[in-house]
Amino acid sequence: MTEKLDHHHDQSDDMSHPAAAVDAESFEAAAQAAMHTGTTGPKRVAVIFAHPDDAEFICAGTVSRWAAEGHHITYVLITSGDKGSDDPEMTPERLAETRIREQHDAANILGVADLVFMGKPDGMLVPDIDLRRDMVRVIRTIRPDVVICQDPTVRYVEQSYLNHSDHRAAGDVTLDAIFPAARNRMYFPELLAEGLEPHKVEEVYLAGAASPDVAIDITDHMERKLEALRAHVSQLNGWDPGDELRKWARADAANFPGNGEFVESFKYFKLD
Ligand SMILES: [Zn+2]
Repeated sequence: MTEKLDHHHDQSDDMSHPAAAVDAESFEAAAQAAMHTGTTGPKRVAVIFAHPDDAEFICAGTVSRWAAEGHHITYVLITSGDKGSDDPEMTPERLAETRIREQHDAANILGVADLVFMGKPDGMLVPDIDLRRDMVRVIRTIRPDVVICQDPTVRYVEQSYLNHSDHRAAGDVTLDAIFPAARNRMYFPELLAEGLEPHKVEEVYLAGAASPDVAIDITDHMERKLEALRAHVSQLNGWDPGDELRKWARADAANFPGNGEFVESFKYFKLD
């Protein structure tokens, strides 16, 4: 633990701002500045992931908390998870329909306001320029202040998990779209022609991060997170995620003392 983190956690409890758990002092400054520009109020948050259920596993407690605090949350699903089945009778089309429905159910439980399905093929994500253009289009349309996305640097975890290539590609394309493409007028003039003006994302939270440096206390939202994850019936095969996910969130909390029983951790950026 660094002093900086301790400071952040001391400040985290009563704030109702996505950045509050992270940097209370600059939040104060930002709030002051915003008062002069008329932009105070709820933040717009985009939660951008490769597959339906990714967000429920690693950041749904935070989503639930921020939604309850009045922030406007949009989910962006790059694929519809159309390869997530071993059932020989299943087709990709039917599976995508099922998973889109399950993602809507989970989002409703969490208080997510909007969902965007980009419809890219599951398992095939490559962070190329075409996907970057599509992501810039989404970001310039939604215009989020805050983005939660996947950590593209996670290649594997311990001795048991090789990270899915879509998760890495999703993180890469999202970060590359945020900076500099979405904010820079010279990138993708075809998007300008569609009326999509440049947009600057202010804050980024990498979920499931290799080196997390902030924690969000989700103690009051743990059960809602589990309820949302259980909405992904096609993916759980009867498994109840309660014990395992409580164990993860408790382990996260042990790394960030001063919070409640359960936390989700992130790598955080406040962009210039
Ligand atoms: Zn996934």
